[in-house]
Amino acid sequence: MRTPEELTVRFRERGLKVTPQRQAVFRALHDNHTHPTAESVYAEVSEQMPTISLRTVYQTLNDLAGMGEILHLELGTGSARFDANVEDPHHQHLVCDGCGMVRDVSADVGSVRVRDGLPPGFRVSGTDIVVRGLCRRCATA
Ligand SMILES: [Zn+2]
Ligand SMILES: [Zn+2]
Repeated sequence: MRTPEELTVRFRERGLKVTPQRQAVFRALHDNHTHPTAESVYAEVSEQMPTISLRTVYQTLNDLAGMGEILHLELGTGSARFDANVEDPHHQHLVCDGCGMVRDVSADVGSVRVRDGLPPGFRVSGTDIVVRGLCRRCATA
């Protein structure tokens, strides 16, 4: 993911307003590998910036996703997750069904073959797999 400074420039180039609140969202996402929900970004940012609204956090995350700066993921954990790892767009995800932990994994899915049902002329651009299970803490709880 780009640095908060680079994101500020890119937002301004697109005519989007950059407020201190939005910059706090940029900082919260930078180097964040937890695939946070909007609510958890809000919880973190509102500690330093009590005036920020959940709506502003949502709007900023949606703008970032629309620009391809982060990924919007639906992994069946109950809320959308936001992924700052766009450097490796082909990575896959591991999900703990107990606590909702999400981690990046590399899986070799290049050899997946669709046996049946592919419409004629359909060009496959990718294959997503989600590795589900329980983390050690959830498995022993
Ligand atoms: Zn867990
Ligand atoms: Zn990821």
